[in-house]
Amino acid sequence: MLIRAEPLERLLTAVFEAAGCPPDEARRVTHYLTLATLTGHDSHGVIRTQRYVEWIRDGWVLPGQHVVSVLDSDAIAILDGCHGMGQTVGPEAAAIGIAKAKAAGVAVVALRNAGHLGRIGDFAEMAAAEGLVSLHFVNVFGSLLVAPYGGAERRFSTNPVAIGVPTEDGAPFILDMATALVAEGKVLVAHQGGKPVPVGALVSADGELTNDPRVLYGPDTPGQYPDPRRGSGAMRTFGEHKGSGLALACDLLAGCLAGSGITRRSEGRVHNGMLSIYLSPARFDTEHSFARDVRDYIAWVKSARPIDPAAGVLIPGDKERATAAQRRADGIPLPDDVWHSILYAASLVGLDRPRIDSLLEGAASA
Ligand code: NAD
Repeated sequence: MLIRAEPLERLLTAVFEAAGCPPDEARRVTHYLTLATLTGHDSHGVIRTQRYVEWIRDGWVLPGQHVVSVLDSDAIAILDGCHGMGQTVGPEAAAIGIAKAKAAGVAVVALRNAGHLGRIGDFAEMAAAEGLVSLHFVNVFGSLLVAPYGGAERRFSTNPVAIGVPTEDGAPFILDMATALVAEGKVLVAHQGGKPVPVGALVSADGELTNDPRVLYGPDTPGQYPDPRRGSGAMRTFGEHKGSGLALACDLLAGCLAGSGITRRSEGRVHNGMLSIYLSPARFDTEHSFARDVRDYIAWVKSARPIDPAAGVLIPGDKERATAAQRRADGIPLPDDVWHSILYAASLVGLDRPRIDSLLEGAASA
């Protein structure tokens, strides 16, 4: 189905409010999940609704929390996310980093124990909108999925990295990527009969490179939701030893340095740690050439002769902007199982059908 963003947002806001989020937080969680779906990162968007509602129900993530300061100086903030909703504590941490970098020129923010932060590029976009460069390294305590290079056992999560650089034209460079070769959501889709992942995206327990999702989820069990904790194999990083090194860096920076706990197996809470660095170009730009140099260099990169003229050469961030524009205009495509899981989440928090129908008024997009 195709659905417009606004009625979907009305429904999700009501769902998160009924799940226990204060109204402003319900709106914020909805905003960021919808934005992830609009930008084409479906695995980090509204598909997460049911999981978030269940995490709130089970006490794994706590609505209504705010960051608590552990240490505060001119250029450093250490913050405890207190297992609050990532869409609250993540933007709060970014706002602190942005304010400090504007004042001091540079800021480092360590965020511990954050509920799932979703799309990490959101924080690079927040900083870029304020004219700041930023770098973000993230790990995921409790979500052990990915093998290190040369290994056939899990040691990392999908540990994302984001880097943002502002541009004059308001279309910033936003590199935002998992260090796993493919997102776990894509392995799930393949497991359910959808598009296969590439061979080498997964490794079996005996070290064979494969694309068989059962190495992640274990043998098929009818009626049981696929759980990546059941498989004996692992996902693999992108870029062989290089991606593996970057994934390890995420745990060293976000797990060890930020103090959020390294990625390891847990039967309970899953939380993100994030180490973010914010830089004010105004302080570095002694020659007043930064904005021009960024503009000219990006233009030159994009002018490379394209292999596929229809696709052109893009910079990180372009694809998300184009997808969001298209989905805002045409509606958001939602597979049936995602839609049903959203309706199921609504029923879990007690929204009845007439209420859902009234929230969805005008939802049809096509
Ligand atoms: P992806 O592979 O879709 O994109 C990675 C980067 O490549 C993006 O910056 C994108 O703009 C760029 N890109 C894509 N196509 C391009 C092209 N043709 N030319 C140039 N650049 C291009 O992203 P992903 O690795 O699947 O990550 C998905 C999302 O999952 C990210 O938002 C990430 O932050 C998020 N994530 C979050 C967690 C968490 O624990 N919170 C964990 C893992 C991933």
